Amino acid sequence: MSSLFPALTDGPPDRAALRFGDRSLTYGELAAAAGALAGRLGGTERVAVWAAPEPETAVAVVAALEAGVAAVPLNPKAGEKELRHILADSAPALVLAPPEAELPDALRDVERIDVDVRARGPLPGGGAGEDDPALVVYTSGTTGPPKGAVLPRRALAATLDALAQAWRWTGDDVLVHALPLFHVHGLVLGVLGPLRRGGSVRHLGRFSAEGVARELNGGATMLFGVPTMYHRLAEALPTDPELVRALASARLLVSGSAALPLHDHERIAAATGRRVIERYGMTETLMNTSVRADGEARPGTVGVPLPGVELRLVEEDGSAITVWDGQTVGEIQVRGPNLFTGYLNRPDATAAAFTADGWFRTGDMAVRDPDGSVRIVGRKATDLIKSGGYKIGAGEIENALLEHPGVREAAVTGEPDADLGERIVAWVVPADPQAPPAAEELADHVARRLAPHKRPRAVRYRDSLPRNDLGKIMKRALTA
Ligand code: ATP
Ligand code: MG
Repeated sequence: MSSLFPALTDGPPDRAALRFGDRSLTYGELAAAAGALAGRLGGTERVAVWAAPEPETAVAVVAALEAGVAAVPLNPKAGEKELRHILADSAPALVLAPPEAELPDALRDVERIDVDVRARGPLPGGGAGEDDPALVVYTSGTTGPPKGAVLPRRALAATLDALAQAWRWTGDDVLVHALPLFHVHGLVLGVLGPLRRGGSVRHLGRFSAEGVARELNGGATMLFGVPTMYHRLAEALPTDPELVRALASARLLVSGSAALPLHDHERIAAATGRRVIERYGMTETLMNTSVRADGEARPGTVGVPLPGVELRLVEEDGSAITVWDGQTVGEIQVRGPNLFTGYLNRPDATAAAFTADGWFRTGDMAVRDPDGSVRIVGRKATDLIKSGGYKIGAGEIENALLEHPGVREAAVTGEPDADLGERIVAWVVPADPQAPPAAEELADHVARRLAPHKRPRAVRYRDSLPRNDLGKIMKRALTA
């Protein structure tokens, strides 16, 4: 399999590739720096990459991919325990890091190479096959300890090319990026995506509404974000005309990693006339579905399966759901060239994740609308509440709560109940901590909007909700 990034060698070398803060690299500079580094990686199976939001991270990952060596991105903010778990599991021969990065004790015994963005060397070229591992990415750890998903080169190529079709993504696109670089969203979509298209990426270092507005008003064409970012944009829009202009003129606003609350969808659409489009993916599968760039972005759906992806909904007894009525809930299972090959050192977990006929069990529950669009109801493990004979998705109750002016953040879980099997519990961060809305009022609000059986039986008030580095609510920590 040839290079994943034809633009490193085939395009004009002075074309912009990366910009992080005030440091930028052209394709020529990126190819030279990655070539010099790739030349030092030969003979290793896996290298760790200290994935700080810096150009060195992109150079390191590109170098590893060009050398045919698997890269393991590390979260620079990970706790010592998580880092040790990942290092023991992935056993990298080397760690590639920006020269100024201070590495923690956990990495003391791993040989370090400083990534030099001014170095020059030839790209090695060729060698690696499409089944060879390209990345080992650890899952977010939302539902349990992170597992290392081994992603072959084929999966990266397949997912990025499918997104290019769905989003009409070309080398002319300039991406605004503010996500961490150690997950699929920020690394594969946000960095490798633009590089595979021959386009460019501008990383803000830290997310801010001003940074997003500045870049989109200054030539950038697309924004990839997680729901917490779009929430902050929605909050800033009423008082920031520059941001309104920026979002209104963007070619594409994409949200993923968790569900974007309807309330934020609606506020952004009302202020800018633009719809945020959602895509759905996982570390293990890369991207599965997306709303098309030219499709109807109906809030609450994650669109249709991407080209090459087979998707089905399956009932608890294993039978596939054949009706698309927007009501019948099943587990999403997927098959396709975008899938990982297995969890590192976890043959048990890998075997459990696939059906006998090779479908990956996502653990996410969804319905399909008559036009085939997928609507995610929530995760089987934490978001599906079985109460009084009903199967109730936490998401729609969370959406309803967020529409109440007294609610800033909301999460919904199920709790054992002698009568109902499970009862619905709402966890609420009030907009005004001095005057939280009464439990009865919130319960009525939900019951009026949805249905009486979706009424929360208890409301628990919190100052904040536990979230991971992608802003996902860690329900496990909430109920522990
Ligand atoms: P772990 O597997 O370690 O518990 P995780 O599942 O959060 O963590 P990721 O692979 O980063 O780790 O996240 C994938 C999950 O994120 C999906 O299974 C799905 O539940 C959720 N997700 C991703 N995109 C969307 C979306 N657009 N809408 C709703 N949920 C989404
Ligand atoms: Mg998961």
